[in-house]
Amino acid sequence: MKIYYEKDVDAQVLADKTIAVIGYGSQGMAQSRNMADSGLNVVVGLREGGSSWQAAHDDGMKVMTIEDASKVADIIHILIPDEIQSAVFEQSIKPYLEEGNTLSFSHGYNIHFGYIKVPGNVNVTMIAPKGPGAMVRKTYLEGFGIPGLVAVEQDFTGNARDMALAMGKGCGLARAGILETTFQEETETDLFGEQAVLCGGVTELIKAGFKTLVDAGYQPEVAYFETCHELKLIVDLIYEKGFAGMWHDVSNTAEFGGLSRRSRIITSETQEEMARILKEIQEGKFAREWALENQAGNPMLKRMRDIESELQIEKKGSKLRKLCGLEK
Ligand code: NDP
Ligand code: MG
Ligand code: MG
Repeated sequence: MKIYYEKDVDAQVLADKTIAVIGYGSQGMAQSRNMADSGLNVVVGLREGGSSWQAAHDDGMKVMTIEDASKVADIIHILIPDEIQSAVFEQSIKPYLEEGNTLSFSHGYNIHFGYIKVPGNVNVTMIAPKGPGAMVRKTYLEGFGIPGLVAVEQDFTGNARDMALAMGKGCGLARAGILETTFQEETETDLFGEQAVLCGGVTELIKAGFKTLVDAGYQPEVAYFETCHELKLIVDLIYEKGFAGMWHDVSNTAEFGGLSRRSRIITSETQEEMARILKEIQEGKFAREWALENQAGNPMLKRMRDIESELQIEKKGSKLRKLCGLEK
């Protein structure tokens, strides 16, 4: 395991470089502002008429079209949604790529699965914060950062890693630590994490717990507090102090009940299904399914969004969060 901190990274390698951040959404906004505040030369590349153009301009960023930004940049850092990167790259970035330029990402998806094919005379790197853009910005302003990953897929100039690390330092990630990985490892673990544990796994666990209580006749509001609201408090404890710290802070009753029952919830069957989900990712089956879904105009995603918004826990939760001042 290789981990880089501020002292290991020399920002000087970017002194004469221009970084074009393409996109000004969750990551684009946070990373471009952090890097600019750290003294790096940053321009933001956006499509004209899009909603983020004005936002970036109002934040004092130097905004230009994606084509112009790609022309002036030495490093093109692509931070638009993964499913449109390939089309935008072909049309607005690739024609302006020059020998020795760097293509940079915060997720290995398009390079790893081959949706973006890059000429051999440029660098291909990744600097990826392990958290949402809002946290990247917030922790930076607080004088710290969140951890990040760095990877080099193609090193034409011989100093691709140094430049990627310097970008990470500019984003504040080296304050917490930047871990070395590969495009393959980052892509496959990121997809698995969001599907099985973070986004998919957690919501299904909350849903199942909530439904069990409500079906048994308990008040939905009480069920919501117990199975959803309190989850954050527990996760915060694990985040700060590990399982042991969490077990220490909850009651002995909770510790005994949790430890003695949990393997009946996540069973060997669940483990086997997790392995199948991972295999679908590794074999490219998930990526193909997602590409077809995008080509078709996202019919399945739209249907699943509708079903999700109709869930009782979502309706009750929204009302309750407002009543308790947790949501505006
Ligand atoms: P967003 O969805 O927030 O990106 C929005 C930006 O993309 C806007 O500036 C938008 O401009 C632009 N955009 C959208 N569609 C187009 C288009 N067709 N042509 C040109 N520009 C377009 O992306 P994220 O920040 O969530 O993700 C960016 C990258 O970061 C991805 O690779 C993702 O995997 C990675 N990542 C994301 C994390 C996260 O927490 N969100 C965490 C770690 C990595 P406009 O206003 O014009 O629509
Ligand atoms: Mg992801
Ligand atoms: Mg309790």
